Amino acid sequence: MNKLVFRFNDKNSKNKINSKNILGGKGANLAQMAKLGLPVPPGFTISTQVCDYFYKNNKKLPKSIVNQTKKEIRVIEKITKKKFGNLSNPLLVSVRSGSRVSMPGMMDTVLNLGLNDETVVALKNKTLNGRFAKDSYRRFIQMYGNVVLGIPSHFFEELIDNYKLTKGVLQDTELDENDWDGLIKNFKEVIKEKTKKNFPQNVNEQLWGAVNAVFLSWNSKRARTYRKINYIPDHWGTAVNIQTMVFGNMGQDCATGVAFTRNPSTGTKELFGEYLINAQGEDVVAGTRTPQNIIKMNKDMPKIFKQLKKIFNQLEKKYKDMQDIEFTVENNKLWMLQTRSGKRTAKAAIKIAVDMEKEKLITNKEAVLRVDPNMLNTLLHPTLDEKAIKKIITSGLPASPGAASGKVTFSSDEAERLKEQMQDTILVRIETSPEDINGMHAAKGILTARGGMTSHAAVVARGMGKPCVSGSSEIKIDYEKKLFKAGNIEVKEGEIITIDGGSGNVMLGEVPTVKPHISGDFSKLMSWADKYRKLKVRTNSETPLDTKTARDFGAEGIGLCRTEHMFFEEKRIISVRQMILSNSSEDRKTALSKLLPYQKGDFFEIFKIMNGLPVTVRLLDPPLHEFLPKTDKDIDNIAKELNISHQDIKSRIIELHEQNPMLGHRGCRLGISFPEIYQMQCQAIFEALAQCKKKKIKLVIPEIMIPLVSSAAEIEILRSLVDKTAAKIQKEHSIKIKYYVGTMIELPRAALRAKYIAKYADFFSFGTNDLTQTTFGISRDDSGKFLNDYVENKIFGKDPFVSIDERGVGELIKIAVERGRMEKKSIKLGICGEHGGDPASIDFCEKAKLNYVSCSPYRVPIARLAAAQSYLRKKK
Ligand code: ADP
Ligand code: MG
Ligand code: MG
Repeated sequence: MNKLVFRFNDKNSKNKINSKNILGGKGANLAQMAKLGLPVPPGFTISTQVCDYFYKNNKKLPKSIVNQTKKEIRVIEKITKKKFGNLSNPLLVSVRSGSRVSMPGMMDTVLNLGLNDETVVALKNKTLNGRFAKDSYRRFIQMYGNVVLGIPSHFFEELIDNYKLTKGVLQDTELDENDWDGLIKNFKEVIKEKTKKNFPQNVNEQLWGAVNAVFLSWNSKRARTYRKINYIPDHWGTAVNIQTMVFGNMGQDCATGVAFTRNPSTGTKELFGEYLINAQGEDVVAGTRTPQNIIKMNKDMPKIFKQLKKIFNQLEKKYKDMQDIEFTVENNKLWMLQTRSGKRTAKAAIKIAVDMEKEKLITNKEAVLRVDPNMLNTLLHPTLDEKAIKKIITSGLPASPGAASGKVTFSSDEAERLKEQMQDTILVRIETSPEDINGMHAAKGILTARGGMTSHAAVVARGMGKPCVSGSSEIKIDYEKKLFKAGNIEVKEGEIITIDGGSGNVMLGEVPTVKPHISGDFSKLMSWADKYRKLKVRTNSETPLDTKTARDFGAEGIGLCRTEHMFFEEKRIISVRQMILSNSSEDRKTALSKLLPYQKGDFFEIFKIMNGLPVTVRLLDPPLHEFLPKTDKDIDNIAKELNISHQDIKSRIIELHEQNPMLGHRGCRLGISFPEIYQMQCQAIFEALAQCKKKKIKLVIPEIMIPLVSSAAEIEILRSLVDKTAAKIQKEHSIKIKYYVGTMIELPRAALRAKYIAKYADFFSFGTNDLTQTTFGISRDDSGKFLNDYVENKIFGKDPFVSIDERGVGELIKIAVERGRMEKKSIKLGICGEHGGDPASIDFCEKAKLNYVSCSPYRVPIARLAAAQSYLRKKK
């Protein structure tokens, strides 16, 4: 290995490209600030490659690192005129972690390294400040003890607290040199007791101990969990920064603070931050003392305040983004310790991007690239109506944003069962596990009694974009009795509650919600996005409400209108059941004729809202038994209604039972067996159009989609059925209707036979849910049991049902695109699975040159932004 160590202000450094990959974010930004001429304490970075080496070589460091490090320490010594371990003027350093992307609070840092029983005396003599020297030493022992020697920090904190109690003081600042001296002795005893060794006095041993600990912290449990949640690759590794200490704890002309160049929660351009006089390191965030608003610095340290403001502007100009900075003031001199692009809320992200375009810091293309599309999720959920009366019964952690109401249910099976009956539920569990994935999918929201912001429930709910309140520790759940208690309020299964994942509140009954609404900066950003995107964005929708929502969010058509959902409504299900249970084609036709006006009405409503935009209507897809009654009571009802015996219905249900419904009698197979069903659906579509024409409503162009096709012959037969029906109705109403017929590509065979299928298809829509299931041979509904193991063992990077598996499923899509276009150049191509709203999958669709993506209404703006970003990134 060659160069492993990089000086912050190295004039000759060739290492300009990808420096974050090698130096980590903190190191790269410290180096950049130094190059800008900002006051950065001298130091250097040990590169991430060393971390890689460390883990590949049994946690050993490369040999050459010792000499390279020594050399750089010598350089610092020369600049600062101090010496590491020296007994008259000792150099102290901080050893700081720093990976490519910031992982706040996940890894470790050690301050004041280089102090021992002798150097602490030297520091006191040199600064004539005994309190400061001892305060620094005790901090060092505390941090080293915790980070390097693994002793939980409460052992030290308790000693300080008890001491303050006996002395009768409240603040650390009220402790003097002697107090700290005593505590240092106690701290060293703790170290001796826990490690059976004395606290290390050799400064080089201290240094390498700390470097090792930083590398080890890369693989700590919390760091690994954080990476998993944020999709940060394990192999990136961390760098280590070694930097001259500057001291904010030397007296009243010293301070330490953190600040943002803009308000990270609203995005407003204003100074935002906190500081503490006479403090060090993490005191500001640790909560031991209450920090001051940064604005007060204008009074306390006016010169420094002015300098800070100037530096903020410089940094924003340089990074063209809001910065999150850390600084320290030592004897009225300002030192910059960190800068990075700051984390912000979705609202702030949008405002900052739009404002910076106005300020001409960035172009509108850059603004479009600035906002993470996934983040918009939090702005696109219904929120509770502020005016509504709320009966809050308890609260928990705001684990995943949005508000939802539904019937309380305690099991995933029950949530699924109710979903089938189109009922909204809130899944209430003590905690969730991978077995609950189906229930979480089915429920409108999730409430747990246990677990934090990174618990299974929280992580999965955020991934699904579902509201979740986790760790609501007040509630007592009784699974046996099917109820939970919050204080003295008892809530039984089936009662309706509302949860607000934005505030963590849990309310009794249904609280009205308001639809989010795109305006102001948000709509400006979206208009830029629309300018820079090639992919069209459609929506998956079958109700007038969803369709309207999607239009308001900018959907340019419907990419998937599932007709079966229209069958479930109470008045219709009877006729649907009659149709299924009938033994002859004649009886079936009678039942279907009762359904026809309903379907026609539904289509008319949707066509009216879509006002001339394309609408893809999928003909009946699911296996018929999904519509059958499940309980004895339901069977009795239907038996009476249809005048068939209970027993007959039961045996018909048994007849219809399938071992493997996902691969059974469904999709176009139904159309082949019972053409009258598809015929009725087409008739409804065309008659709805005729009605639109009569009412002078702009005609949509229907795209009639045949599901689950695997061979050209299927679509050949069914296309002719559609054409015949179309011809008949056009003649009856003497109108001309433009329409397309196409197919879903959701089976591997269909992808392979795309050239032949394209002969009869005007469009393909990739049904990536089923295509993923059939390509992997994994049913999504059962994958919950092992998905986690697969992600854990790195067999899957991401859940392939969330983000498209480019290597397998993606390859099939590419094949189908190529073969389809080979036969028919003009064939229209889109995707309509859940993936249509996932930015990573949208990126794939752009690369695969599809024409559109279709996603759920609330994800339409996300898809618009993601599509623009993909296009802009591709062009770069
Ligand atoms: P984190 O990544 O957890 O923020 P840092 O490496 O930034 O950890 O260190 C935490 C804090 O320690 C900094 O915010 C700063 O206040 C303090 N610190 C780090 N290095 C130095 C230094 N060389 N001199 C003074 N304070 C330092
Ligand atoms: Mg920091
Ligand atoms: Mg399908």
